[in-house]
Amino acid sequence: MRDDVKQLLALQDTDQKIQALESELVRIPQLQEAAKERLAKDTESLATAKSNFQTNEIEIKNLELDIGTRKNTIDRLKNQQFETKKNDEYTKLGQEVIRYEKEVDDLETRELELMEKADDLRSKISDAEQNLAQTQGLVDEEIAELQARLDDRKIELAETKTARETLVTQVDDEDLLDTYHRLYNKRESQAVVRVTSERICTSCHIQVTPATFALAQSGTAIAHCDNCSAILFP
Ligand SMILES: [Zn+2]
Repeated sequence: MRDDVKQLLALQDTDQKIQALESELVRIPQLQEAAKERLAKDTESLATAKSNFQTNEIEIKNLELDIGTRKNTIDRLKNQQFETKKNDEYTKLGQEVIRYEKEVDDLETRELELMEKADDLRSKISDAEQNLAQTQGLVDEEIAELQARLDDRKIELAETKTARETLVTQVDDEDLLDTYHRLYNKRESQAVVRVTSERICTSCHIQVTPATFALAQSGTAIAHCDNCSAILFP
């Protein structure tokens, strides 16, 4: 292989590495964000579980107030009943007492139902807390790992860029360097490629002429693919 082609190939390897590192530097923070979003979902689930429990508690409190009010009424009616001298009023007050006692009974049944529901809602809070704690642990670990990877890649990128500067100075032919840069962008990072024994350019996958193939093999001059212009080596 010609020395200049060898140098360009080394440069291309470095450029591909820089490209891969730069895309990873974009991707890692996105992965960190995605991990945080998983945490947000579990945090929200816990908030919902707490809020459901709270709503139920308020309903229980309101029922207790309603029950208390009715019990006061019952006491008042019973006092009136005790004080009255009239038979029909006594009976009427007694019926009222029965009606309120029935209401208290219904409300107390409902209260029991809500208290059972409270047990269920309480265990949902504890499930959500456990989920959140577990996710928090995993997410913390994942974010820390990603951060370490990000820091490593940043150092690696800086080192690779320094290495590239050295490689560039080794290529004496400015025009060849320009051609390389143009081809690298145009051929999606495949500017310097092997031509196979079947004369196939591995950048565009089209067969080159026997003359081009012979030139690539002899190395007397730089050989370019007849179709895509990529720099060829055998
Ligand atoms: Zn080609």
